[in-house]
Amino acid sequence: MEKTEGLPTALLVDDDDVARFFTLAALEEKGFAVTEVDSGEAAIAAFQRQHTDVVLLDALMPGIDGFDTCRKLRTMPGGEHVPVLMLTGLDDEGSIARAYEAGATDFFVKSDHWALLVQRIRYLLRASRMRDELAKSRAKEARAQRIARLGHWEWDIPNQQFLASEECFRLMGQPTTQKTIPEKQFWQCLHIEDQLRVKTIVERALKDGNIAQLECRLVGADGLIRTVHFESEAEHDEHGVAFRMLGVIQDITERKNTEDQIRLLANYDSLTGLANRRLFREQFSMTLERAHQNDGCVAVLFIDLDRFKQINDTLGHAAGDQLLIEVAARLNRSVRDHNLGGRNADVVARLGGDEFTIMLAGLNSPADAEIVARRVLSVLREPVRLVGQECITSGSIGIAVFPRDGEDAETLLRNADTAMYAAKANGKNNMQVYKPGLNAASKDRLMLEHALHKALERNELVLHYQPQIDTRLGKIVGAEALMRWQRDGKLVPPGEFIPLAEEVGLIIPFGEWAIKTAVGQNRAWVDMGFEALPIAVNIPGSHFERANFVEQVQEVLSRQRLDAKYLELEITETTLMQNLSATLPTLDALTALGIRLSVDDFGTGYSSLSYLRRLPIDTLKIDASFVRDLQKGSDNEAIVAAIIAMARSLNLRVIAEGVETYDQMCLLHAYGCHIMQGYYFSRPVPAADFAAFRREYGDQKQLPKMKSQSKSSVVSLLRAAGEKAR
Ligand code: C2E
Ligand code: MG
Ligand code: MG
Repeated sequence: MEKTEGLPTALLVDDDDVARFFTLAALEEKGFAVTEVDSGEAAIAAFQRQHTDVVLLDALMPGIDGFDTCRKLRTMPGGEHVPVLMLTGLDDEGSIARAYEAGATDFFVKSDHWALLVQRIRYLLRASRMRDELAKSRAKEARAQRIARLGHWEWDIPNQQFLASEECFRLMGQPTTQKTIPEKQFWQCLHIEDQLRVKTIVERALKDGNIAQLECRLVGADGLIRTVHFESEAEHDEHGVAFRMLGVIQDITERKNTEDQIRLLANYDSLTGLANRRLFREQFSMTLERAHQNDGCVAVLFIDLDRFKQINDTLGHAAGDQLLIEVAARLNRSVRDHNLGGRNADVVARLGGDEFTIMLAGLNSPADAEIVARRVLSVLREPVRLVGQECITSGSIGIAVFPRDGEDAETLLRNADTAMYAAKANGKNNMQVYKPGLNAASKDRLMLEHALHKALERNELVLHYQPQIDTRLGKIVGAEALMRWQRDGKLVPPGEFIPLAEEVGLIIPFGEWAIKTAVGQNRAWVDMGFEALPIAVNIPGSHFERANFVEQVQEVLSRQRLDAKYLELEITETTLMQNLSATLPTLDALTALGIRLSVDDFGTGYSSLSYLRRLPIDTLKIDASFVRDLQKGSDNEAIVAAIIAMARSLNLRVIAEGVETYDQMCLLHAYGCHIMQGYYFSRPVPAADFAAFRREYGDQKQLPKMKSQSKSSVVSLLRAAGEKAR
C-alpha cells in the first residue's frame, strides 16, 4: 500500500494468514497504515519499494526466515536504523537471542495482547525518532566543527586513551573512522619541536586545575603541518586526582600563514630578502641589551654604494635592482652565521636605496670590525654583470662600535652613518671608523652635492633678471641674469651653491645652461615685441679655459638668431687675474665675435691699470661693497670716484652695483657713473616679472629723457614701476 500522509507506517511480514489478519486489524484500528506480505522475499521487495516507519517480522517463515530478512534489511539503504520488531513464539528464548543477533530492535511474543503490541511499536517509533534527531544534530555539530575547523577530544587518563571527534582526527591527519587512539599516539602527532612544551603545559594544568592554552603544530601522516590552537581543562576526582581532560583543537594554519606573511612584509626588504630597517633596529637593540649585560663588543657597519645613481641612470632601474640583489648576496657571504639565527648571529640589512648595514655581534675587539669592513670592500669591488655589461662598483663604509662610539642603536647607527659620509668625502671606496671629531658637516655637504647633481635634470635652476638703468636716459639698458636654485620649494641664492658647483665641476654645465637660457629668454622677449637688450651672464674663469667655449657660445647665439652684442659675460676681477695667460686668447675671440665682457665686483681684486689696458673688456662693475657706504667725504666716495675716473680714461663703461638709495644714485650720477643696478630700481625678478616691469615701464623710446625731466621724477617713475613688478 502507498504510504499514507501523516499516519505511521508499518510493514507486517507473516506467513500465517490468520495471525497476519488479526495483527493487521489491530494495527489499523490504532491508526497505522500497514503493508502486509507473507514472506521474507516479499518483505525485502516491499521495503525496497517503500520504506516504512517500522517492520514487524515473523521469526519463523519458510524460505528466507525472519532472522535472515532482518539481516538483509539492515544492509539496505534506509534499513540500517528502521525499528524491527521480531515476532516470536512463546518459550522460544533461542529466537529472542537470535533476533538481537540478526539486528532486530526488539522482540514480541505473539499473542492477542494487541494493546501491548501497539504500545511496544509506539515506543519503538519514539526511540527511533529520537535516534534520528540525535543523529541529525550530531551531523550538524560535526559539520559546524568541520567548518570551524574545530575538533574536540577527551583524554581518559587511567586508560591512557584519547577519544576524539572526526574533525579532531582530520586535523591530526589520522583516519577519521576511528574513535579512540592510545595516548602515546596522540602525543606523537605533535611536531617534535613542540612536544616537550605542550606536555609541560598540560602536566601543569593537570596539577593546578587551570585551563591550558597554547599554539602548537600537528604533523599528519602525510607530513602536512597544521598549526592549531589547543585548549584543555582537567577533571579531578574527590581526592584531587585528575582522571580526565577535555579539550579542543582549532586549526589556525591559515591565520598563522597570513601572520607570517605580514611579518615577512613588515620586517624584510622585498627586493633583496634582507632584514629591513625595522627588523635591523629591533635585533640591534636586543643584541646591545645582551652586550650591556655581558660587556660584549658589537659593531655596526654602514655601507653605501658609490656609483649606484649612475648605474641606475645609465643602465636603468632593472639593472639597479639586479645590482642591489647581488650586493645583498655578497654582504651575506662576507659575514658569519647570518642566517643561522643564533644568539650572536650577524645581521645584514638594507635600510633603503643603496644603503646597507651589518651588525657584527660578539666581537673580540673593535679591530675585528675593520677586518670585516675590509672584506666587504673587496667583495664589493668584484666586477658584476648587469644587463650584459661588466660593471665595477664600490662602497664606502662607516664603522661604529659599542660601547666606544655609542650606547644605543640610534646613536651607533647615526655615528656609523656620519663615518660613512666621511669615508665618501675621503674619495669613496674606503672605510672610516667613527671618531668624535667627525661631524655631520660632511654628510650635509654630500647631500647638497647629490641634490645639486640632480638640479639640472630636474629643471630646478632658474634665472632671475635685474635691470640695469641709465639714469641719464631714464631707461633700461640691460639686465643681469642671476641664478637661483629651486630646491624643495625654497629659492636657494647662488652664494650657497655656486662655490660648491665650482668645486665639484658642475659649474661648467651650469654656466652653459645659464648662457643658453638667458639667450633663449632674450629671443623670447624679442618675439614678444620687446627690443633686444644686452643681458649679462656670470661666468667663472674655468669656462674661459675650455677649448670649445667660444664655439659653444656662438652656436647658442646663432641658434637663437641673436646678435652677439646682446650677450654680455661677467667675469669677476679675482678670477680674471688668476689665470690671465690661459684666458686671454678666449677673451679676445669672444670680443671678436662682438660679445661684451665686464669685470664683475671691480675693486675687490688687485688689478693694475697696465693689465686692464691689455684686456679686451668693455665694462667695469663697481662692487656693491663700495656703493653701500657711499657718502660724501667717505673712503668709499674716494674709491668710487677713482674707479669712475680710471674707467673713463680707459674708455670703459662703468656700472654701479647694489644701488639701494636715492642718495647713492645721486652721488654716482654726479661722479659720472650713469648705469646702475640695485634694489632701488628693482630686485632680480623672474623672467615673467621682468617682462611686466618692462611693459609697465613702457617702450623706452617714448620715455622722456633726463634732460627734459627732473631727476627725481624719472627715478620715482622707475621706482614705482619696480615696486609694481615686484
Ligand atoms: P654678482 O654678479 O656681483 O651679482 C650681484 C649680486 O648683488 C646679486 O646677488 C644681486 O641680487 C645682488 N644685488 C643686486 N642689487 C642689490 C642691492 O641693491 N643690494 C644688495 N645688497 N644686493 C644687490 P645674488 O643674486 O645673490 O648673486 C650673488 C653672486 O652669485 C653674484 O654676484 C655672482 O657672482 C654669483 N652668481 C649669480 N648668478 C650666477 C650664475 O649664473 N653663474 C655664476 N657663475 N655665478 C652667479
Ligand atoms: Mg654679476
Ligand atoms: Mg658683482
